[in-house]
Amino acid sequence: MKVLFVDHSKVFRSVWERMVLHAGHDPLIATDGISGLRLLEHQTVDFIAVSLSLPDIDGIRFTRQVRTMPTCRGVPIVLLTSAQDNRTRRLAFEAGATDICPKTGIEDLFQRASRMARHDDQQLSGRVLYVEDSRTVFKLMIRLMESLGLGVDHFVSAADAFEHFDDKLHDLVISDILVEGEMSGIALVSQLRERHPDKMRTPILAMSGLDDDIRRVELFRLGINDFIPKPVIREEAAARIRNLVVQKQLFDKVQQQRIQLYEMAMTDPLTGLYNRNSLAEFAAKITSAANRHDMDLSVIILDLDHFKEINDQHGHLVGDQALASVGAMLTASCREEDFAVRFGGEEMLLILPHCPLSDAENRAHGLRERIENLRPAGIKVTASLGVSSRPPGRPIILEQLIRLADQAVYEAKSHGRNQVVVHGSLGRPSGPGARAVSAA
Ligand code: GH3
Ligand code: MG
Ligand code: MG
Repeated sequence: MKVLFVDHSKVFRSVWERMVLHAGHDPLIATDGISGLRLLEHQTVDFIAVSLSLPDIDGIRFTRQVRTMPTCRGVPIVLLTSAQDNRTRRLAFEAGATDICPKTGIEDLFQRASRMARHDDQQLSGRVLYVEDSRTVFKLMIRLMESLGLGVDHFVSAADAFEHFDDKLHDLVISDILVEGEMSGIALVSQLRERHPDKMRTPILAMSGLDDDIRRVELFRLGINDFIPKPVIREEAAARIRNLVVQKQLFDKVQQQRIQLYEMAMTDPLTGLYNRNSLAEFAAKITSAANRHDMDLSVIILDLDHFKEINDQHGHLVGDQALASVGAMLTASCREEDFAVRFGGEEMLLILPHCPLSDAENRAHGLRERIENLRPAGIKVTASLGVSSRPPGRPIILEQLIRLADQAVYEAKSHGRNQVVVHGSLGRPSGPGARAVSAA
């Protein structure tokens, strides 16, 4: 970054020069206004700090002159003065100064200049959906966006752009308001916000050559995030585009982190199954949906056999490994609508919507067999399983189904473990080691 400092004081000049060099930037120094202006005729700079009182022309006249130079139109100019009276402020801003700052605040000023440089240097990544039918404008804008590091999907018609909008791909939509074709830019904004209400977060930047306050207000009401008047000032467009893209991507990141945190709060890290907390969150939804649609729902509880002994004989780490393997196997055997929870230490609960008792029983037998064949860390692990299901014609109370399945597990344990017991009137012994118990 090149920074120009125009000041008569040798002390301040050297302070500034040291700071700029130290930060790895390029200092340009002028002792008075005329030599400063001469310097700007041959050099482009990124930031200008000028003292109000100079030996020749003052800082305000200097600023006014700089603003007439086409290469300096978008360059920030900060006027250095301790006189912060209203008249000076007004004159400075009218002349085109970006801000006023006391000379003693030179360090803060420098920080600001470096922040701006960092900002400008950082390449973006992302894609913009862009609607513009004027060739001169779109050539300039596409070049600008590409120089920022953005990919551009450009369309001359709003209808075509609307077809190609993809909220996963596009970080920003930029649209001219008056474009060729049946769909106007306003209609595009309206349709995007209407058809994709959950995708409100893709920012929209509108552009227009018409300086029409009412239309602008309407656009903001429809949901645009920013507006650029035409003719476009390159630096302004770059800064606005950068802000919108950075904010959108930051929002996406926060959203993603929120989902990750939520999943972490709901998941048991050892088995990868849902944890018990999550049950409270999902149980009500699952049962009310099942009751509303009068659908089948079954529950399987699975308790590993003699797990205390496994820990005692092989160590807690091997025990953990066994739990993790059983958890992974359960996850793999689940359908989309199933819900597998680590219910207690070595006890797991499966909630199976749309699953009648006979299917649940078959699945329990399958699981029992798979656990027996799993042999995590080379050791034999077995489980006792209890199955219960929605009583026909009666509403589901999940706590009740869990209690019945738990009783069935207890039965399985007392009858020798490594078996399936089905609870309920529909239950019947099936397969090796299967038993049925009736409702208490
Ligand atoms: P049963 O066949 O009657 O179910 O006998 P059991 O030993 O499996 O049952 P019990 O309830 O007496 O003991 C459960 C054991 O599970 C005790 C506990 O140390 C172990 N356990 C619970 N959570 C974990 C865990 O996260 N890791 C390991 N390694 N062991 C666990
Ligand atoms: Mg056990
Ligand atoms: Mg247990």
